[in-house]
Amino acid sequence: MRILLTAVTLGLAATVVGAQEIKEREIRAHLEFLSSDLLEGRAPATRGGALTENYLAAQLRYLGLEPANNGSYLQRVPIDVVAAERSTMRAAVRGKATATLRYPDDVVLWAGSSTTRSAANAELVFVGYGVTAPEFRWDDYKNLDVRGKILLVLVNDPPAPSAEPALFGGNAMTYYGRWTYKFEEAERRGAAGMLIVHNTERAGYGWPTVVGSWAKEQRMLPRSPQLPAPLGFRGWITEQSAADLLRQAGLDLARLRRDAESRSFRPVNTGITMDVAFSNTVQNLESHNVVGRIPGSDSVASKEHILLSAHWDHLGIGPAVNGDSIYNGALDNASGTANLLALSHALAHGAKMRRSVLVAFVTAEESGLLGSEYLALNPLVPTAQIVANLNVDGGNVLGETRDLTVLGDTKSSLGPQIAALIRPKGMRISPDAHPERGYFYRSDHFAFAKVGIPSVSIGEGDDFVGRPAGWGAQQADDYTTHRYHQPGDEYRADWDLRGAVQLTTIILELTRELANSAVWPEWAQTAEFRRRPNM
Ligand SMILES: [Zn+2]
Repeated sequence: MRILLTAVTLGLAATVVGAQEIKEREIRAHLEFLSSDLLEGRAPATRGGALTENYLAAQLRYLGLEPANNGSYLQRVPIDVVAAERSTMRAAVRGKATATLRYPDDVVLWAGSSTTRSAANAELVFVGYGVTAPEFRWDDYKNLDVRGKILLVLVNDPPAPSAEPALFGGNAMTYYGRWTYKFEEAERRGAAGMLIVHNTERAGYGWPTVVGSWAKEQRMLPRSPQLPAPLGFRGWITEQSAADLLRQAGLDLARLRRDAESRSFRPVNTGITMDVAFSNTVQNLESHNVVGRIPGSDSVASKEHILLSAHWDHLGIGPAVNGDSIYNGALDNASGTANLLALSHALAHGAKMRRSVLVAFVTAEESGLLGSEYLALNPLVPTAQIVANLNVDGGNVLGETRDLTVLGDTKSSLGPQIAALIRPKGMRISPDAHPERGYFYRSDHFAFAKVGIPSVSIGEGDDFVGRPAGWGAQQADDYTTHRYHQPGDEYRADWDLRGAVQLTTIILELTRELANSAVWPEWAQTAEFRRRPNM
């Protein structure tokens, strides 16, 4: 009985200390400042962006974190803005088919890398879904040499047959369904270019979205020498145009699509030649990741790091909506940034940890996860010494919840670890409401997952304390419709930040668990990015 009482007393004491460590007023102060019009929407490579970077660096210095980049809190991130010049666009088809493809009605093409001239002139090879996935015993390429070829590929991942419902995650999107994967696989195989055949149902969006997203300037990192040679161009083709070309060559797109839904699929040389060329204007910008380090107390374990991240950037100044042109990004992601500052404070001034903690406020998330990708490719400590990444993209401003959403919870042991941590608090992880949308691949933790680090993004669920069922989902829909990526994503003084304290406290506890453990989180068997040996 006495032992039990002592345990209960200690438990209460720990709870009280924990509650004091993350302060509501601290989160609110950072959130209000970072969301203010003064910062002009925090776009990378703007005055507002530079003010944000300097604010974060000053906070890390004040909190006593070590500068994590050779004595500096800033890691320079070069960003190239590459715009295809429409008047120079050529997309001619010869050989077994003849056509002049119109931009952007039939094809949308953009540079495969930051370069002023994009070109490829080669045979078109149909490669099905363009997927090589050993864990699913699936290989669309079948060792065909596609060096120098232009590849025609289907959108999304192969559909799971009824006999094998878990293939490629079933209804959930795997990385193999993302267009980025298809381009990267084509690069690894030395292809000259790649065209994705659009299909509204399988893409989840119509052709106008393709035009709106890619028939405009693209932001990218200068090509890293660690990566294979880039494609000459990347692009999409309408289903109609692809079917027309293939028909001229005696091939049937519907038949090819059916063939591609099987492991026995083999790539098809079409006998069609494509000649693609266009010029680009390239503008070089630079922004910064803001990085700090809390050294661990153990001389050996301190070489190992827990990486905490949140993107500081947002969209800047843009088209006015209701007279407001500043895209403040209060929720996206001043909130996560404020949480990570409060978390850094608690970690730097709290109990010692065996392992070290790396804190990264990454830039250019809104330009395509560029800051996190740059950090993953140019790590401040060796990738093999990074134990896990915990990311916050959108903090809770609506009050305490009984659940969390954890992007990537089924992909590594971090999911079960978080579930066990919050269970005693009467909390649970809610499953991803939209696994088919592939959100796991659309936030900064993904850049770290891709280089083999078990990674999750942690946010609130939708079961709010003191609110009726459905209220949380309704709030989320209201945000998506009226404020997401709009000037209306603004700070509100009536936001209930008790949920932010709750969320940040959980991440604080999880960070300590990871930092004091001798165990490494592990990927699930079917995860795409299992830590490779010798990394
Ligand atoms: Zn965003």
